[in-house]
This record gives sequence, C-alpha cells and structure tokens, in this order.
Amino acid sequence: MVFEGLANRLQDTFNRLRGKGKLSESDVAEAMREVRLALLEADVNFKVVKDFVAKVKERAVGQEVLQSLTPGQHVIKIVNEELTELMGGAQSKLAISPKAPTVYMMVGLQGAGKTTHTGKLARLLQKDHKKPLLVACDIYRPAAIKQLQVLGEQLDVPVFSLGNEVSPVEIARQALEHAKSYGHDYVLIDTAGRLHIDEALMDELKQIKETVQPNEILLVVDAMTGQDAVNVAESFNTQLDVTGAILTKLDGDTRGGAALSIRAVTGTQIKFAGTGEKIDAIEPFHPDRMASRILG
Ligand code: GDP
Repeated sequence: MVFEGLANRLQDTFNRLRGKGKLSESDVAEAMREVRLALLEADVNFKVVKDFVAKVKERAVGQEVLQSLTPGQHVIKIVNEELTELMGGAQSKLAISPKAPTVYMMVGLQGAGKTTHTGKLARLLQKDHKKPLLVACDIYRPAAIKQLQVLGEQLDVPVFSLGNEVSPVEIARQALEHAKSYGHDYVLIDTAGRLHIDEALMDELKQIKETVQPNEILLVVDAMTGQDAVNVAESFNTQLDVTGAILTKLDGDTRGGAALSIRAVTGTQIKFAGTGEKIDAIEPFHPDRMASRILG
C-alpha cells in the first residue's frame, strides 16, 4: 500500500506531539527532524523535503501555535495543509474543448501504463455517456496496436488504426478527421514510448502535438520508479509542456516519493492515480485526501 511506511512513521511522531501538553520550539524542531527523515525515506526529492520542512517549521513555531491549547494538533494541521499544497492543492480536472472533439494525448515511457490508462480514461468517459475514439499511434511496439484493439473491444469503444506502416503524425491527423465525421466527442491518442527518453521520440511527439493541438498532454508515469519518475516528468515537461500527469501503479509497493515530488519539482499537476491493472482501477487524484491518508 502506497505511503504505508511514511504514514506509520509520521503517525508515531505526531502521537508523541499530541501527547505533550505544551510544546516548546525544540519539541517542534525534534518533530521536524523526524518528518524530514520520514520523507527522505519515502524517497521524496531532497530539495522538496528541505523546502517543505522549512515552511512547516516557520509556521509551527509561531506564538499562536505554541500557546494554543492543543499545539500538537495545530502542528499536524499545518503539516496536512502543506502536504496538500505540495501535491498541488485543489484537485485538477481535465480540460474540455469548447468545440468537439476534445483531444487527449497520452505520453510516457514504455511500460508506464500508457495504453492501459488510455483504456481507463475511455471507460470513465463512456460511463459519462461520451463517445470516445481511441487512436493507435504506438506503431513501434508490435503488441501495442493489438493491446489497444483488445481494450477497445472489451469496452465497445472504436479504435482508429492505420497499422504500423503509416507515420504516427499522419495517423493522428486522420483520426481527428475521422472523429469529426463520426461524431466522436473525445479522441484519446496512445503514443509510442521508449525505454529511455530519446530525441526521435520527442520529435515525433512534438509533431503529433502540432498536428492535433491536444487539449491535454497527459504524462503517464510509473510511481514505482520513484525519483526516476520525477526526472522523466521533468524531461517530458521541458520538451512538450505537458498539462498533467497520471501516476500509475500506486497499488504497488511504492514508497510514494514520486507522488509527493512531481508537482513541486516540475510544476506538473497529477490529475489521476492508477491503482491496478483492471480497467476500472483509476481515481481522480485528490491532494487533500492523499495528505489525510498519510497523516491518518
Ligand atoms: P505502456 O507501454 O506505457 O503502454 O504500458 P502498458 O499500458 O502496456 O502497461 C504496462 C504494464 O503495467 C501492464 O502489464 C499493465 O497491466 C501494468 N499496469 C498499468 N497500470 C497499472 C496500475 O495502475 N497498477 C498496476 N499494478 N499495474 C499497472
């Protein structure tokens, strides 16, 4: 379960704080040392931890907090608020085009969960009585087109494919025309990934972006890869100006550092969390609920 280690450690720290009647500055300092270690152990980016602890400390040693009747509770509330802020504050919804179709372009490294989450988003839209079209632009991985077609069949959502001989840019362009002709209100483009970021991949993604002018470029990142996920997000964002992230595999044995760092390091808001292999295993990402989960 994500954040289990972090949650356990922070809850120990805060139980000790709650147990004290009055808090001194050194009590707060001690608690902040523990918070710092717990976050580092959860694989949160070093600089993010440093800034976070400094912010909480500054607010927590104020007279208003230390002299209140329940100072421990006050400090916990501050940590909760700052954690929520760290993960992006309010929940962020997907953009919708004023003129149909709305286009979402999925990007990310191979194996991050792009194809799976393209299907999951289609499912969410379908439940909302929308008419999505899936587009198979990952022509390099032999099984990718088939995988999307299987998902499409399972969902009863059409998949636009021109096989693997036509360029992904052309496929995307024609898919958009097709969607307009056939009354699809959403177009979800599954693009190719690589094991590592390379120039050819980025060039292709940039060209698709130019061609279809997506309403969202959603970066699909694997939470299990920890700080690497943050580096990947940074690279994709620099090259493509992504509009949001889908953090996948949060059901796995991840320490959660990526969830807590991506927004602060890259400015990219996490919009959805993937929580399993099944088609329904997707949730809107709520920073406040995540923070409360961590603090128990
Ligand atoms: P792509 O290469 O980015 O398109 O990745 P895929 O969509 O093919 O996913 C790669 C693997 O990760 C597949 O085995 C998926 O079933 C699995 N996967 C995707 N999302 C999740 C998730 O949220 N949780 C878990 N446990 N597995 C996932």
